[in-house]
Formats: sequence, C-alpha cells, structure tokens
Amino acid sequence: MKIKDLEFKKFFTAARIADKVTALAKQIYTDYNGKNPLFLPVLNGSFIFAADLIRQVNLECRVSFVKHASYQGTASTGQLKTLIGLNESIFNQDIILVEDIMDTGLTLSKVVEELRGLGTRSVEIVTLIRKAPARQHAVQPKYIGFDIDDEFVVGYGLDYDGLGRNLPDIYKAVGNPS
Ligand code: 5GP
Repeated sequence: MKIKDLEFKKFFTAARIADKVTALAKQIYTDYNGKNPLFLPVLNGSFIFAADLIRQVNLECRVSFVKHASYQGTASTGQLKTLIGLNESIFNQDIILVEDIMDTGLTLSKVVEELRGLGTRSVEIVTLIRKAPARQHAVQPKYIGFDIDDEFVVGYGLDYDGLGRNLPDIYKAVGNPS
C-alpha cells in the first residue's frame, strides 16, 4: 500500500483493533463503575478510536474534544504545545484523555500537568498505541492498546501528511521515513 512517497504494510487488522478496543472499554468500565468520567479525545488522530471505545463504555459519561495548539517559541524553548477547546468545567472531574498514539509522550505529559492544575479529581490516559520512546517518560497511560517499536504508522485515524485516516486497518511504513 502506498501513500504519497511512502510504502506501508499491514500491521494491525481491523478485527484485531476491534478486539483490543473492546478489552480497553471493559477495563475502563470496571475501573470507573459508579463514576461519571469525562472523556477528552485529543483530535485529530483519536477520532475513530474514541468513537469505537466510548460507545462500548456503558457508563453515564460526558465527551468533549480537545486539540493541541502548537506555536514556535524562542529558539531555546523550541515548540510549545497547549490545549484548546476545553469548554467544559473540569473541576472535580475524572478525566480520561483519549490519545491515538504516544511517541515521546512529551505532548501528553504537558497536557496532564495542565489538567491537574485545574482542580480535576483524576486524570488518566488511554492510548491505542504506545511507541518505544514513550515508555521512558514519567507520565504513563493507564490503558494501552498496543506497544510498538519506533515505527511510523497510519490508518484508523492516524495520518501521513493528512492522508490515510480513513483506512480501517493500521499500517506501518516500510523502511525508515525521515
Ligand atoms: P508525542 O508528543 O508523544 O511525541 O507526539 C504524539 C503525537 O505525534 C501523536 O498524537 C501523533 O499526532 C503524532 N505521531 C507520533 N507518532 C506517529 C505515527 O507513527 N504516526 C502518525 N500518523 N502520527 C504520529
């Protein structure tokens, strides 16, 4: 399968993803029984995962969407990211951040820090995929679908240069995209 200049091969089939999403939903349902969590899918990549996951969590819950806004800081601080779109009151809420993929984990750790500073009751992360570099980070997801090596993946919401989000399966790049 080819997207633009890159060759991809199948990594996780839609059926395997569906099984994993069901297992994650069951874990979340068990852990949050009696609570009313607020799901915060982080756009854009998590929209398909979030839709499949949240429909299987049979709890009274709310859903709101957030997005990383990035801007160039000074040369010394590099690229800074923050959250936009948070219109809900999150005070005293049990937040579940829904992420498609954690690479370095840097983006999400900043977001978790930000949310904890806003008086939330709890903040946990569910990520469909965790890449190897993210395993070393201090902020860890409570729920992880797949642990993978440092591969570039597309499909099931994840894009390559804006394309491939609509693929039902997940593919990995052949060779090393740079
Ligand atoms: P982090 O701060 O964890 O390094 O960055 C995570 C974000 O980078 C993800 O939400 C996603 O947008 C992007 N990303 C990281 N790895 C991949 C990948 O393999 N494929 C795609 N499509 N996006 C990725």
